[in-house]
Amino acid sequence: MRKTLRLGIMGGTFDPIHFGHLVTAEEALVQFNLDKVVFMPTGRPVRKTHRYVSSPEDRYLMTVIATAANPDFEVSRIEIDRPGATYTVDTMLQLREIHGPRAELFFISGADAVREILTWKDAARFAELCTFIAATRPGFDSALEPFEAVGDAAVAPRVEAMEVPALAISSSDIRARVAARRPIRYLLPEAVAAYIEKNGLYREPVA
Ligand code: ATP
Ligand code: MG
Repeated sequence: MRKTLRLGIMGGTFDPIHFGHLVTAEEALVQFNLDKVVFMPTGRPVRKTHRYVSSPEDRYLMTVIATAANPDFEVSRIEIDRPGATYTVDTMLQLREIHGPRAELFFISGADAVREILTWKDAARFAELCTFIAATRPGFDSALEPFEAVGDAAVAPRVEAMEVPALAISSSDIRARVAARRPIRYLLPEAVAAYIEKNGLYREPVA
């Protein structure tokens, strides 16, 4: 029988993608023996309506540019191409359908994001569909507090902690740096920085 596919999913706005995301995906790939990591840029994020978000196509292209050299990384258009608001649980259901019941899904995110996700619409369903890999900063909350069952779920969500060294990098800091004409070099792949420059992204200061 075909061996189980261990699939990592790294969802995000990726506005822009940076070394924090890439280091986290690579670490998850190795620590959890994943077959590949699929980067999943969000379409129209339901929760980031308070600020201007770059076009899905710009965010998709930056993610492709950043991951192109890694044979274990892929970028999916599932959320970008879905009309209407993005709900990650729908994406997980779709991945489950595409890959079948033998696939094991691992949702990779920052530790804080896991707590937030578990307050989302259909959190219980989401938790049943995948194991969470929660990135933490070395020396900080590496022992995650236990998670309790959410909604009408029978079991508590499976959450695995993973320490990554590049947690202080964030997209919002990079955007603020571009607007303030401060350097972003060494925070993200050079080709992504070049894309930002070429297309004039983040020049205007935004919240
Ligand atoms: P913003 O600053 O706009 O919130 P971000 O840097 O957090 O952006 P997102 O696209 O929102 O980037 O994050 C996608 C996923 O990557 C989330 O699960 C988030 O927790 C995680 N993440 C973001 N930055 C890091 C980092 N430096 N190290 C590890 N995980 C990260
Ligand atoms: Mg964030």
